[in-house]
This record gives sequence, C-alpha cells and structure tokens, in this order.
Amino acid sequence: MTRDVFERPLRNLRLSVTDRCNLRCAYCMPEQDYVWLPKDDLLQFEEIEALVELFLDEGVDKVRLTGGEPLLRRDLPVLVRGLAAKPRIRDLALTTNGVLLAGNAQALKDAGLHRVTVSLDTLRRDRFAGLARFDELDRVTQGIDTAARIFGELKLDTVVIRGVNDDELIDLIEFGKARNAEVRFIEYMDVGGATQWSMDRVVSRTQMLDAIAQRYGAATPIAEDSSAPARRYRLADGTVFGIIASTTAPFCSDCDRSRLTADGMWYLCLYATEGKDLRRALRSGAPPAEIASMIRSVWQQRRDRGAEDRLTSDARTPLIPLDRLRRDPHLEMHTRGG
Ligand code: SAM
Ligand code: SF4
Ligand code: SF4
Repeated sequence: MTRDVFERPLRNLRLSVTDRCNLRCAYCMPEQDYVWLPKDDLLQFEEIEALVELFLDEGVDKVRLTGGEPLLRRDLPVLVRGLAAKPRIRDLALTTNGVLLAGNAQALKDAGLHRVTVSLDTLRRDRFAGLARFDELDRVTQGIDTAARIFGELKLDTVVIRGVNDDELIDLIEFGKARNAEVRFIEYMDVGGATQWSMDRVVSRTQMLDAIAQRYGAATPIAEDSSAPARRYRLADGTVFGIIASTTAPFCSDCDRSRLTADGMWYLCLYATEGKDLRRALRSGAPPAEIASMIRSVWQQRRDRGAEDRLTSDARTPLIPLDRLRRDPHLEMHTRGG
C-alpha cells in the first residue's frame, strides 16, 4: 500500500463524474453563472476504469462516485457495473443530492452499487427552495424513501449553517430514524466555491452536541477504529448519528482520501490548489506503468493538511476569490466532488 510523508495510506478515491448540477446549494454554488469543464475533456467510462485499476494497484479499496450531481451523468449504472466487477473495491458508494434518485435506485442496486449517501439539509420545502434554488424537496424525499427500501440502509449528509438550518437537527434525526438512515451533520467548510462562508455561520460539533443533548440527553460517543471522518454517537434509544467536524476539529492526520475530477485532474486535498493531470497522461498514450509510478510518487510526497492549516489562519475568509474560481473551475467543490 502506498503511503504519504505522514504514513497515510492511499485508500479512498472520490470520483467526480460530472461538474454539472441540478441544484445550486448556497454553500457550494452560490453564484449566478459558472464556467464548466469542456465536454470533450470529460473522461469516458473506459478511461475512468483504466485509472481506477491503477489506483487499486496502489492500495485504494474504497471508491465513491460524486460530482456535481453524479446522477446527471448519462448511463451512470454502466460505470457502476464496471466498477462493481472489481473485487478489490471493498466499498463502492454514491453521494447524490437525491433529486434523480427514485428513478435510478433500482438500476444502481442491480448494477452492484453497495451504498448510497443523500445530501439533505432541510425538511422544509420553502427553506429547501431558498437554500438550493430549486423546489425539489419532494423529489429528494421520494428518492430517499425509494433508496432506503432498495438498499436497506442509507446515510444522510446535512451541512449545518447558523441561521439557515441549525434549528432542524432534531427533525432530521427523527426523519432518519423513521427510514433506517444515519444522519451525519457536517460543519460548514470554507472550501473553494463557498464564497459566502464566514466563521460565524459555522455551527461547531460541540454546539451541535449541546443542541441534541437538550432534546435527548447526552449522546454517547461510539468507540471506533477507523479513518472515517464522521465521529459517531448513540442516543439513549439506540439511534446513531454522526458529526463531521471538518472545520473546528479537522482529521487530516487520518486522511486517506483523494479526488479525481470528471476531466481527470487528481487532487490530494479538498483545499489543494494544484492537481495532477492524469487525463493528459492517459490520452498521450503513456504506458499504465508510467502513470502508476506518477500516482505513487505524487502520493509518497503528499504533505497536505489543508483543514488543519486553515485553523491556524487568523482572519479566515472564503478560500478562493470568485475571479480565480472563474479562471480555474477545478478549484470548485462541485468540480472536485467533496
Ligand atoms: N451533488 C452531490 C450532493 O450534493 O450530494 C454530490 C457532490 S457534493 C459537492 C458532495 C458533498 O459536499 C455534499 O454532501 C455537500 O453537502 C458537501 N458540501 C459542499 N459544499 C460544502 C461546504 N461548503 N461545506 C461542507 N460541505 C459541503
Ligand atoms: Fe448542492 Fe451537491 Fe450540487 Fe453542490 S454539487 S450544489 S452540494 S447538490
Ligand atoms: Fe484530507 Fe485535506 Fe480534508 Fe485534511 S483538509 S482531511 S488533508 S482532504
């Protein structure tokens, strides 16, 4: 297994299959217009699979399909089927906003997808339309219900923002409980694209736990030996939920994740401003062993601790100014996939 400078293994690959999205969440895509990746640059499924094979050789065993909105990528189940046929992928998951999930869940399950995570920030229709700029909550909840039935379990990810949805933690836990879905609350991050971010809008893990304790009593932390970003807790009635404290208590020391954009740029950290162009290597006809050695040596030199570095900056403002995002859409969260 390939390890970086801090001995962190390369295990977890997030594959962004498109930079396009059918929502415009205020914490991810707040602007009126966007610069999209050129269509010809997008990796074909065979190219994605060829690169994934090389990552598997280096120790990757967890793959998550993401985006933009991955269900906008035509024939996604075809890619899922190809990846599911690789036994070295122990965990094959999808993160989606859920809008197109109801109609796709069965095909994804049949193709061999293991797990689904749906992003769900609010249960209030007007709030959803305000936050995501499309009135799609009904389709999302139908998608969740369908996927919960077909997959048997589900994760729900909620970005918590002060003054926006921080009064819904209990409602979301109850919603998840009724569907065998584990809710994970994510601290609002100052990643590229979050141009409206400010520290006073971040609800910390401690504040979330306090709010949850007021309703249910103190939640018990679950002891786990894992590099997963969510710390998990159990309520007195057995309900489990998670909190991803990416902003106030980052977990860079355990980070085994990297991300491949839909046009084949490989980024090692959510906060990284430089990536490695694997599409160019692939399309130039470089032999697989050469690309593999490039992947290995890039990871071996990895020193990223983006979120921890951000903690040390005093006057923290959004990571990347808008004009720079326009010049390089790879810096957007919706391009690199979270
Ligand atoms: N469109 C899909 C979705 O929303 O689930 C997948 C891509 S989206 C970029 C992946 C995840 O990143 C989502 O769960 C989203 O909530 C999260 N995300 C985006 N911007 C964020 C921010 N500023 N802080 C924390 N999480 C963020
Ligand atoms: Fe929202 Fe995901 Fe689309 Fe970003 S990529 S705007 S988080 S649905
Ligand atoms: Fe990993 Fe970078 Fe996130 Fe830290 S900030 S956990 S190094 S992706």
